[in-house]
Amino acid sequence: MRHAVLPALLLALLAGCAPAPDDNGERIVVYSSRVEQLIQPIFEAWTRETGVGIDFITADDQPLIQRLQAEGASSPADLLLTVDAGNLWNAAERGLLRPLESEILDSRIPATLRDPAGHWFGLSIRTRTIIYAPDRVDPATLDSYEALAEPQWRGRLCLRTSKKVYNQSLVAMLIEQHGEPRAEEIVRGWVANLATDVLPNDNQVIEAVAAGRCDVGIVNSYYFGRLVAQRPDLNARLFWPNQQAADGTRGSGVHVNVSGAGVTRHAPRAALAQQFIEWLTSPAAQELFAGLNYEYPVNPDVPLDPLVASWGTFSQSQVNVARLGERQAAAVMLMDRAGYR
Ligand code: FE
Repeated sequence: MRHAVLPALLLALLAGCAPAPDDNGERIVVYSSRVEQLIQPIFEAWTRETGVGIDFITADDQPLIQRLQAEGASSPADLLLTVDAGNLWNAAERGLLRPLESEILDSRIPATLRDPAGHWFGLSIRTRTIIYAPDRVDPATLDSYEALAEPQWRGRLCLRTSKKVYNQSLVAMLIEQHGEPRAEEIVRGWVANLATDVLPNDNQVIEAVAAGRCDVGIVNSYYFGRLVAQRPDLNARLFWPNQQAADGTRGSGVHVNVSGAGVTRHAPRAALAQQFIEWLTSPAAQELFAGLNYEYPVNPDVPLDPLVASWGTFSQSQVNVARLGERQAAAVMLMDRAGYR
């Protein structure tokens, strides 16, 4: 009976129907591009605490957003949970999310990490930063994303493909900070410095650095966290770029993105879904949500996972992550012009 509202086909796809804590008969439906092992423990904690069950499906961002759009007003989904502000922005642009007013969310989430209009909210911070091989690179020679375009890095840089939204958001930030002509110059410099063809994922960038195929790369720090948790002697280190400007003032900061969520436009249980997002910003949920994947809690009052804390402190970009979505189409065209495949 508890799944009576859901069509049979959807039920068959609901990965989250595995044994879960008993619920009180109330359930919400989550569409998630975050993978099952990172969300199931959190969903179970919420159900234990509130008695509200969660049914979910997981899929890649674009199919999930397209599905939500195709289902329209008959969608069973209450909540979209996804990664990258570009995806959240895109879902909001298509009118798939409803604006929320929540003092809890506004007070717990820094303003740069949520939609100014309230359609979506960052729940964990993901830093896209520089990785280097400590046996071949003196970190004193590293400085910024921009500096990786300089000739001293010729034949020494590894990058993931430009098709990945993470790099589209990074270039969107460069456009936001420098304008397109300068951003294109930087990207052209990166391409000229590549040691290998672009790689399919961040893990391969880290492995290539560790194995000596290149000396530096750009990756999300949680991939490094996952690898180094298993291989503490991995020949790779993180570097926090853009901490200081040339004139000694504060730099533009490390590029950050978010994983986040929004309540769907046609959510059958919108009030419950909002309560769930609010709960996700509470300290206990934040520790789980960020810690399970070596990410940073979005709520600044929440302690870091010890491994993440060991990477030290840094200042982060103060560009609102919503701008990354707005600039993404321009970023894709710019990377294409610059020959970044
Ligand atoms: Fe990722």
